[in-house]
Amino acid sequence: MTATVIDGKAVAAAVRERVAVEVADLPEPPGLATVLVGEDPASAVYVRMKREDSAEVGIRSFHHEPAPGEVADLLAELNADRQVNGILLQLPLPAELDDAEMTALIDPRKDVDGLTPLSAGLLLQGKPGLVPCTPAGVMELLAYAGVELEGAEAVVVGRSQLVGKPLAALLLAANATVTHCHSRTRDLAATCRRADVLVAAAGSPGLITADMVGEGATVIDVGTNRTDEGLTGDVDFAAVREVAGAITPVPGGVGPMTRAMLLVNTVAAAKAQLEAVR
Ligand code: NAP
Repeated sequence: MTATVIDGKAVAAAVRERVAVEVADLPEPPGLATVLVGEDPASAVYVRMKREDSAEVGIRSFHHEPAPGEVADLLAELNADRQVNGILLQLPLPAELDDAEMTALIDPRKDVDGLTPLSAGLLLQGKPGLVPCTPAGVMELLAYAGVELEGAEAVVVGRSQLVGKPLAALLLAANATVTHCHSRTRDLAATCRRADVLVAAAGSPGLITADMVGEGATVIDVGTNRTDEGLTGDVDFAAVREVAGAITPVPGGVGPMTRAMLLVNTVAAAKAQLEAVR
C-alpha cells in the first residue's frame, strides 16, 4: 500500500480563503499583536510569516519587539488595547523569562495561541474556547482527509502543553480512544502499531519507523526537526508511506496548518469580543 499524502499547504490555503471571507464580513478588520522577544532567528522567521499570513486575509498586525524586562507591561497594554483582538507571544522566550508565567499574563479572550491556563482548562472540560493552533490544525487535517475518529484508536506520541496534551483532549472530545505516549512509555512500537490514527509530536527525527505503523493507519507528523539533511519530521516518511493509508509530509503538512489556525483563532477572538460589547 502507498499512502495518500495529505497536502497541508492546500488545506491551509482553503482555510485562509475561508478566513478572508469572514474578515470581510466583520465591521472592521481584526487586529493581531505579535510579540517577539530576543534574537532567536527561527522565531523571527515564524513571526514574519504569521504577519504576512495576516495581511493576506485582511487581519491588521501590530508588531512589537520589547526587551525582556518590558514584556509584562507590554502585555498589559495590549490586553487593554481595543484595536488588538489577539496577542501572539512567540515562544520560546529568552532564558531570563518563563514561558508559562508570561503567557498567563495574556487576557484569555485574546489568547489566540490557546496556551493560557484558562484556555487549557476549558479545552480539558470540553467547553468552547481558543484552542492551540497546532492541535487545531491536526484536527482540521484529519477532517479534510475524511478520517473517522468516533471509536478509533488514536495514539499521540508527546505530551507537551503546546501540542500533545491539547491534541489528546481534542481527539477524546471527538470520541476517539486515546492513548498517550511519552519518553517513559514501555513499548512505544507495540502501542503505535495499534493506532488507526498515529500522531507523532516528539521532536525526534525518524522516531516512527515502518514496523511501528499498522497497515492503513493515518499518520500525522508534527515533528519539525532541523538536521544536516534539512527539515525533517518524527516519521520515517519514505518507509512509513508504504504501510500507512494516509500521511502528512514535513515540510508541507502540519506546519502550514499551524499558521492558518492562528488566523482562525484571531477571527474567532474578534467575533467573541464584538458579541461581548453588543
Ligand atoms: P516538547 O515540549 O519537547 O515535547 C516532546 C514530547 O515528546 C515530550 O512529551 C517527550 O516525552 C516526548 N518524547 C520525546 N522523545 C520521545 C521518544 N523517544 N519516545 C517517546 N516520546 C518522546 O516538544 P513539542 O513542543 O511538543 O514539539 C514536538 C515536535 O513538534 C518538535 O519537533 C517541534 O518542533 C514540533 N512542532 C511543530 C509544530 C508545527 O507547526 N509543525 C508546532 C509545534 C511543535 P516526556 O514528556 O516524557 O519528556
